[in-house]
Amino acid sequence: MKVCDVCGLPEELCVCEEIAREIQSVKVFTVRRRFGKLMTIVEGIDEHDIDIKELTKELKNKCACGGTAKKGQIELQGDHKRRVKEVLAGMGFSSDDIQVR
Ligand SMILES: [Zn+2]
Repeated sequence: MKVCDVCGLPEELCVCEEIAREIQSVKVFTVRRRFGKLMTIVEGIDEHDIDIKELTKELKNKCACGGTAKKGQIELQGDHKRRVKEVLAGMGFSSDDIQVR
């Protein structure tokens, strides 16, 4: 059985990630890349508390786009700012702490 190293509870009982989601302050914005392509950037995720790979997978599914996670940032292809906020809020991130610009 796997045990969380933060709270010491078995993983099924651990709520560390849920708590961490509520306190992340996330920025969502778009940048224009090569060839004029828009990318949606999600910044401010604490990789120690949040499984950023899993989160990227979820966002890619929900936005039906490609994307990667690197250096604590998630990059999604296309403009998905509004959708990203909805998806994050649906996963337990506090929508007051999700800044979209
Ligand atoms: Zn825990």
